[in-house]
Amino acid sequence: MARYAMVLDSDKCLNCKACQVACTAENHVPVGKHRNVLHQTTRGVFPELSMKTDPGQCHHCDNAPCVRVCPTGASFINKDGGGFVMIDKEKCIGCRYCMLACPYDARYYDEEVGVVDKCTFCFHRLAEGLEPACVETCPTKVRVFGDIDNPDTEAAKLMRKHSTEQKKLEAGTGPNLYYIID
Ligand code: SF4
Ligand code: SF4
Ligand code: SF4
Repeated sequence: MARYAMVLDSDKCLNCKACQVACTAENHVPVGKHRNVLHQTTRGVFPELSMKTDPGQCHHCDNAPCVRVCPTGASFINKDGGGFVMIDKEKCIGCRYCMLACPYDARYYDEEVGVVDKCTFCFHRLAEGLEPACVETCPTKVRVFGDIDNPDTEAAKLMRKHSTEQKKLEAGTGPNLYYIID
């Protein structure tokens, strides 16, 4: 089975927020919420300081705590659809246990409809042969999405070429976002 993942090169990020705008437009994300985030940290020593931006979103964890705590089965791993972690909005009761369980703060509550939502890896676009909106829009190609078990994909080639790290591995979540570190 394919193993889909996002490979990210944070050093290329301009913090232009084009990915957030594209995601919001594509997925009708409510005002003030985001499916992708841009974490900013300072690096270096004064006066040689610079800002680093780490783009992030749902890690579509193999061992997802959000799925485990969901009392209704609304959060689930779509085993027939690439193993993505998805939300069935018809089943979501807005209890927000999943938001508490997620170590990446990757979910938000949509007050207007009373359900939790998050990144879907743009499943609907993939079904049409398109890339996720954030991947397509990024001017510097920070994010590359693909099957990392298929050696011919760009994502797999990047994984072979670079060392990568997954965030908060100690949480045992099995995240599927890989950050280039060299
Ligand atoms: Fe669930 Fe958070 Fe992992 Fe996404 S990043 S699958 S919301 S635990
Ligand atoms: Fe948003 Fe799609 Fe990117 Fe996820 S993959 S952050 S839903 S644009
Ligand atoms: Fe960074 Fe690309 Fe998002 Fe711009 S579009 S903020 S460069 S990840």
